Amino acid sequence: MVEFNRNVIDETEVTCEWVNNGTLCNDRVKGRDFKGHLHDRHGVASDTQLYQCQWLTCHSHPMWRSSLERHLMEQHFPARWACPYSPCTGRFTRESTLQNHIQRTHQVA
Ligand SMILES: [Zn+2]
Ligand SMILES: [Zn+2]
Ligand SMILES: [Zn+2]
Repeated sequence: MVEFNRNVIDETEVTCEWVNNGTLCNDRVKGRDFKGHLHDRHGVASDTQLYQCQWLTCHSHPMWRSSLERHLMEQHFPARWACPYSPCTGRFTRESTLQNHIQRTHQVA
């Protein structure tokens, strides 16, 4: 049984591409700090309001804060799922994609 590194995103720095009034944020933020960053810098702070993802080139529908946080990690964070086979450096946004990769590349059923 392969153990997936579910915490890899916490330690991964992403460049925030959230656009505020036409200005790209461009801050480097660690995965674990990202919710706080959204809260402090981009005003995503309410559970009773719908927010539109303003990530560069993203055209999502408005969603609740918790959905938005999950959306950001799934769609915009490149390293949520890391291939556990070294020296492979595969990084995937979805667990299913990682599993496909492992089966195809590393021939594990
Ligand atoms: Zn930002
Ligand atoms: Zn988005
Ligand atoms: Zn791999």
